[in-house]
Amino acid sequence: MADPRPVLAVDVDGVISLFGFEGPIENLGGRFHLIDGIAHYISDLAGAQLRRLGEVYELVWATGWEERANDRLPMILGLPSELPCLRFAGRARFGTAHWKLDAIDEYARDRPLAWVDDSLDNSCHDWAARRGAPTLLLPTESHVGITDAHTEALLSWAREGYTAG
Ligand SMILES: [Mg+2]
Repeated sequence: MADPRPVLAVDVDGVISLFGFEGPIENLGGRFHLIDGIAHYISDLAGAQLRRLGEVYELVWATGWEERANDRLPMILGLPSELPCLRFAGRARFGTAHWKLDAIDEYARDRPLAWVDDSLDNSCHDWAARRGAPTLLLPTESHVGITDAHTEALLSWAREGYTAG
């Protein structure tokens, strides 16, 4: 039987792992973690946000990290388990998101879907508008990532029958 929960497609770079800051990083609300030998600045807020969202949504990694997203992030973020990983067959391009559409479409099928990403472009919004099921795209800023405001918007969208608040 199909999972009745809405899907939440979660990008990593620019949502969980922050970049593009200007100025000192002392007060940006994250810390560096070494993942696969690369230092990533992970938002301190992201874990709590994802844990709250996981009570309502099925969380799915939608990131060029693909299955590597499960290597360290669930532990760093305090998630109860690994997440399903979308795969993109070599199509990943940093700084854009249209290459994620096919895989997200295939995974979500006709389920309600929210997607949080720092690289949403017009092709993503066009796709969302054409989708037959409720769809919510939430852009983040690459140096801030997912915030309380995103989480509140996502929770109310799901709880209020997928209508924009
Ligand atoms: Mg990104």
